[in-house]
This record gives sequence, C-alpha cells and structure tokens, in this order.
Amino acid sequence: MRALVLDGQLKSQSDYPDVEPRPGESIVKVLMAGICGTDLELARGYMTYRGVLGHEFVGEVVESADARLTGRRVVGEINAGCGHCDLCLAAMERHCPHRTVLGILGRDGCFAEYLRLPDRNLLAVPGTMADEVAVFTEPVAAACEILEQTRIARNATIAVLGDGRLGAIAAMVLKANDYAAVVGGHHHEKLARLNEIGIAGGFEADLRPGLDVVIDCTGASAGFARAIELVRPRGTIVLKSTAAAAASLNLAPRLNDIVVNEISVVGSRCGRFAPALDTLASGKLDVTALISAVYPLEDGIAAFAAAADPSNLKVLLKLS
Ligand SMILES: [Zn+2]
Ligand SMILES: [Zn+2]
Repeated sequence: MRALVLDGQLKSQSDYPDVEPRPGESIVKVLMAGICGTDLELARGYMTYRGVLGHEFVGEVVESADARLTGRRVVGEINAGCGHCDLCLAAMERHCPHRTVLGILGRDGCFAEYLRLPDRNLLAVPGTMADEVAVFTEPVAAACEILEQTRIARNATIAVLGDGRLGAIAAMVLKANDYAAVVGGHHHEKLARLNEIGIAGGFEADLRPGLDVVIDCTGASAGFARAIELVRPRGTIVLKSTAAAAASLNLAPRLNDIVVNEISVVGSRCGRFAPALDTLASGKLDVTALISAVYPLEDGIAAFAAAADPSNLKVLLKLS
C-alpha cells in the first residue's frame, strides 16, 4: 500500500506492506489525515520512531470482528494500552507504560491507505459530520483535556501562547466552552487570520502579566519561561509543548518563581475523544477555517513542507 514512512528520513512509499489483521483490532481505510507539530518533530528525529507517521485521521472500518464497527466511519484514540495494568484497568490507557501510540510509538500510523487500531479505540462519527471536521477530533481532544484537568473560573483571564495549529484549536475550544482566551503569537499574518475567524489575539510581547491562566502551545522552550512571567501568583500554567522543546529548557532559575508565586503547573497531552466529538458536533467552532491546504497522499512530502511553513495552519492529506 501507499504510505508516508519515517525511516531515518521521511519517504513516500507505494510498496509498504499491507496491514495484517490482529485479534481485537479493526482495519480502517483512511479517508483523511491531519499533519501536526508532533509529526514534524518526529520527522526531525524527536524520539527514535520508525514506521508510518500520522495520528490524526478519519476513516472507514473495512475489517473488524466487532459487527457494530464494520462499515462505520470512525475516528480513533491514538494510545493503545496493554489492557491489564493498573492504569489500563483504571481507564487511563493513555498512560499505560506498555502502550503503543499510533504513528508515534511502536505502532504504524495513519499516513497510509490503511491502519489498524484496537476496536475499543474506535468511535463512530455522526453521519452529518464532514471528514474535514472529524479529522480534527484528536487535536480538539487534546484541547478539551485542558478543561478536564483544570478548574478555570468563568471570568478568568486566559492567554494561549503560540499562534500555530494547537494554539488556535485550544483558543477555539475555550471559546466554544464560553471562556475568553487571547492568543499571544509572533506571526502577523497568522494572528490576522485568527482574528478573521473570531479568535482574539495579538503579539505575545504585548501581553501583560497578572493572568489567571497561561496555556503554552508554542512548542518552544521559551514558552514556559514566558508563561511564568505572565501568570499571576497562585495562577495556573498549562504546558502543551512536547519534549522536543523541553530538551533545551533550563528550569533552575525559574523554579524559584514557581515556588514563591505558588504557581500550579499542569502537563497536558492527549484527551478523550467522546467530548471532542461532542464539541465538534455542537457547531460552536469552525475548525475548517484552520485548513490551509489539502494534498493527496502521493504528495505527502510536499504536504510536510507546507505544514512546516509557519504561514500555514492545518495541512490535511486526502486519501482515495
Ligand atoms: Zn497531533
Ligand atoms: Zn496497560
């Protein structure tokens, strides 16, 4: 099958081995997939992942032992736990120490014609929801996770650092849940684009300290340091930037500020898909406004170049 494969470098392959069936898992024909910052980091060598890239998708189940899934259009939670450990049994598969993660850790991803995921990871997409909307379920779930992990006062002052894909989606999800968040970014065109689609934003340097909540979606080590400057004493920082950014972060001079100001720091990664699908189905946010380009899978290398261009927001792959 055709696939975008990371093997030291990113390659577009037409002869990648077909997906083999496995008990308890369904085979899904991929309809649409989204490229995110994590994919770009993996392609740059963050983690030693080898295999098909991609974890944001909508597809159709073509082979499953679960009759309720066969033929259904689905999205899929990306973490596959062992199913036996304490964390899995407590419904925290996302934190299972033995987990595989679609297109990120030990499991081929969705930038291919077909993928395989455990049946229990798959959720049916409402029939009325377009593929272009459903493909955003994973990043919207990651944004919804912020609200699951924190208790934010309705009138809280909130800044989202980073005017990229994740920052935009976080701000959209907050707005859909009646929170007022301001995006702080560096790119004039992106901020203008966000303003056009109803997301308040401005230059990060213009943000004033004293904020109740600061959400770091910069993907850069400077984001955390800036968040510590901006948050009020006893405020909350939510970290969405991944390990690639943390590698170059020297926390020592900042720890004192966190202690003295009694700042809560919350690490935040993936979220549950069910609330994300509900949020998308509510029609309260228009994620399609974030789509900068759509490429066929054959042009996956060009799609990655487009996704890495800071003037673009979401780049999608359309299959078949
Ligand atoms: Zn992602
Ligand atoms: Zn487990």
